[in-house]
Amino acid sequence: MEMEFTKEEKAFQQEVRDFLDQHLPKGQDIWTKRAEWFQALKDKGGWDVPKWPKEFGGPGWSPVQHYIWEAETSNHAMPITLPFGQVMLAPIIMRYGSKEQQERFLPDIRDNKINWCQGYSEPGAGSDLAALKTKAELSVDGSHYTVNGTKIWTTMAHMADWIFCLTRTDSSGAKQEGVTFLLFNVKSPGVTIKPIYTLGNSHHVNQVFFDNVEVPVENRIGEEGKGWTYAKGLLQHERSGIAGISRSIAALDKLKRNVKSVKSGDEMQIEDPTFKRKLAQAEIELRALEFAELQSMTAAQAGGEPGPASSILKLVGTQMQQRIQELTVEAAGVYALNWGFKKAGPKFSKTGMESYLFGRAATVYGGCSEVQKDVIAKKVLGIRN
Ligand SMILES: Cc1cc2nc3c(=O)[nH]c(=O)nc-3n(C[C@H](O)[C@H](O)[C@H](O)COP(=O)(O)OP(=O)(O)OC[C@H]3O[C@@H](n4cnc5c(N)ncnc54)[C@H](O)[C@@H]3O)c2cc1C
Repeated sequence: MEMEFTKEEKAFQQEVRDFLDQHLPKGQDIWTKRAEWFQALKDKGGWDVPKWPKEFGGPGWSPVQHYIWEAETSNHAMPITLPFGQVMLAPIIMRYGSKEQQERFLPDIRDNKINWCQGYSEPGAGSDLAALKTKAELSVDGSHYTVNGTKIWTTMAHMADWIFCLTRTDSSGAKQEGVTFLLFNVKSPGVTIKPIYTLGNSHHVNQVFFDNVEVPVENRIGEEGKGWTYAKGLLQHERSGIAGISRSIAALDKLKRNVKSVKSGDEMQIEDPTFKRKLAQAEIELRALEFAELQSMTAAQAGGEPGPASSILKLVGTQMQQRIQELTVEAAGVYALNWGFKKAGPKFSKTGMESYLFGRAATVYGGCSEVQKDVIAKKVLGIRN
């Protein structure tokens, strides 16, 4: 397989580096100069929405250009946006939404004017998502749905303005049928958001309750009862994003730099043969994973959706994230225990422990590892049971 960048791709890589040198805010400016950064990206020709196709104002990059962008930007701290609107929902609106919905929602998603959250999982429907029960009933005059039920693990619902939500409009057939995809404002009457505190006492996720929430029928994406098809497409985009392979490469490089200043007994940690071996093993596997990603990108050059192969990247990519987090905590040694206090040990011991604790969830959200293995067995390897 040809893995060398072409002349044009090398030129693009240089263009990205030059752009970052010129426009990327540094230090505290990451917070204060967010708007300028996103404007500069937009002015560059849709770089603010890298995954969007040209017809919707994106740059229309090839998969290899995406890879280059990810690899170059992962090496820098930079202003970020949550993926729910731009990466997950927007492709669904582009593909299945009406023209009116595209005009109504896409500009605000692009300009970060509306924060979105994802209402998929329920207390009885996580891995078995199609078991969802949140009910949406169409009014007699057909003007609106009334939504009742609950969603759980809803990331950043407490900061969100709107939710994209899987609801059940029919229970008579197979569970994948009768699912309807609705968009609504989380400030609507009848919506209650309660925090869930996770490992490390952080508040990212919530349980969201719906009590007779009225949703106008024009907020339904596509056809009633066909939401499962739309939902599945979205999961593939979500899984490809969660794999975070470029971010892992940057994290491992950072760990190698950090560990050079850490002592273990009388020796430097980096000289410890067991630690060195673990680091080298992680690096070898990460490079293999990078090639798997490049291979899937090369295959995707012709266009198309991420497909079930995104499950391979999600499965191994999240395991790799956890390996690097574990090595970071190991390198921090006793200082990892002090992570709640600001001035104990090397700086990375605090952030390293935070990432380690939150990182436990990566092999669960977006579909747990066992579910990815099922998808790989059935859809990639063609094994039926
Ligand atoms: C931090 C975090 C953020 C999240 N954010 C969101 C969000 O924003 N929106 C949203 O809708 N959801 C979100 N989720 C929910 C997430 O998608 C679900 O947690 C996930 O799909 C697993 O479902 P569950 O928690 O119900 O676990 P279950 O489905 O009950 O699974 C529990 C365990 O059972 C085992 N298991 C399950 N199925 C199988 C199988 N087929 N074969 C073998 N073993 C199996 C696995 O070990 C699995 O980990 C988030 C979760 C976390 C942890």
